[in-house]
Amino acid sequence: MKLHEKQELYIYNSLTKNKEKFEPIIEGVVGMYVCGPTVYSNVHMGNCRTFLSFDLVFRYLKHLGYKVRYVRNITDAGHLENDADEGEDRIAKKARIESIEPMEVVQRYTVDFHNVMNAFNAFSPSIEPTATGHIIEQIEIIQKILDEGFAYEKNGSVYFDVLKFNEQHHYGKLSGRNLEDMIANTRELSAQSEKINPQDFALWKKAEPQHIMRWPSPWSDGFPGWHLECTAMSTKYLGNRFDIHGGGMDLKFPHHECEIAQAEACNHISPVNVWMHANMLTLNGKKMAKSTGNNILPNELFTGENNLLSKAFAPVVAKFFMYQAHYRSILDFSNDALEASEKGFHRLMEAYRSLEEIEVGSKSDFDVPAWRQSCYDAMNDDFNSPILIAQLFEATKFINSLKEGKAAITPSDLEIVQKTMHDFLFDVMGLIDISVTASEDGNKLNGTIELLIELRNQARHNKDFATSDQIRDQLLEIGIQLKDGKEGTTYSLN
Ligand code: AMP
Ligand code: ZN
Repeated sequence: MKLHEKQELYIYNSLTKNKEKFEPIIEGVVGMYVCGPTVYSNVHMGNCRTFLSFDLVFRYLKHLGYKVRYVRNITDAGHLENDADEGEDRIAKKARIESIEPMEVVQRYTVDFHNVMNAFNAFSPSIEPTATGHIIEQIEIIQKILDEGFAYEKNGSVYFDVLKFNEQHHYGKLSGRNLEDMIANTRELSAQSEKINPQDFALWKKAEPQHIMRWPSPWSDGFPGWHLECTAMSTKYLGNRFDIHGGGMDLKFPHHECEIAQAEACNHISPVNVWMHANMLTLNGKKMAKSTGNNILPNELFTGENNLLSKAFAPVVAKFFMYQAHYRSILDFSNDALEASEKGFHRLMEAYRSLEEIEVGSKSDFDVPAWRQSCYDAMNDDFNSPILIAQLFEATKFINSLKEGKAAITPSDLEIVQKTMHDFLFDVMGLIDISVTASEDGNKLNGTIELLIELRNQARHNKDFATSDQIRDQLLEIGIQLKDGKEGTTYSLN
């Protein structure tokens, strides 16, 4: 029996604004789509929070035994500088400023994104499609929407007709916005606008002569609108209706609202069962954002090279800090909060390690099965990681009293505690015990240098001074200094 048959998972659905019992469309299988990064600059910690929130979701669904297809795209074209379909393409702009190819920009920041996600020990998605790899699919969808009568062409560009769509459907149902209010609150269209109504959005934009990212289409040489790629790629890989769609809260409107409109216009079905939105990471109380410069980059955190930080923090400590808040709550980033998380993180890891040394008895002073279920209850309640972490700290208190001989545990309960801690710390939250890896790495380094000292001694014994000097000098070059003394050779790391 799979775990998901025993555990009842409830997820907050941003569309219905209710926590709902999760029932996948196909028994035992989950299709999940999450909007990925626009790769025109390094991801900041805010972006990371959203992706790590969905890594937790992905990991927990897998832990429950679901077969999950997780699709997270890379936006490598079509995302203009502002949401009103105006301004330059963000990637083309960066390429112009740096005098490099747009695809060099894309490559650089996609690699950075992957490195950062690896540093956080996040799983790769099952499919990571790109917008430029799905131009044909996007053109097909535009054609369908035109055929359905919900879009119009103007001077080689195609726009979605929001008013027309709203006559038969409900535009605004995800964000809770009302189209009449939106219209009342917007200024007149500028004279050069091709849109019939300011609420309309671009499905295809004709490229200006200087625009280098362009593809042929029935309407013009141009490029797709930003909202379209997610409709094309999610439905291609997950079907016209799939289980979960996620992204940051700031994508609810207009991005996700437009995704719903496009999919309903073309497939006559609402595309998503459960909409999930992760809340923002803030810095000094304001949203972390690329555009304002109010952000911290992962590498600044890992090296400590930022005035806001007193020291470097390990990626998994930062991840633990983020999981101490629920994904739907705003979280403010601060050095003090990170330091507190670091202490807690080490306390949990130490407790887990010390389980190896616990002596068992004939009774337990802790209701282990109930505690284990409470860990699941926390995650089953809309992935409530702070409550889960509080439960793990409960176990830590008990483990500490076991160590002090003030409490007892049976062998089978000890096994359950060990497995549960392991499952939630390492499988579900994807943390890594860095003190173990550091000391393991230390042991390996020590062994390697001992071996080199031994080889150097042999070389000296054989009067092969070229080799012995080479070992000493090359070690020095990489920052390892050998010191010959009466007791033999020792080393220090410079
Ligand atoms: P972008 O590359 O700007 O499209 O953003 C990638 C993802 O990061 C989206 O899901 C955004 O909603 C999310 N995001 C952007 N800023 C923040 C923030 N300050 N906190 C959390 N998530 C964010
Ligand atoms: Zn998207």
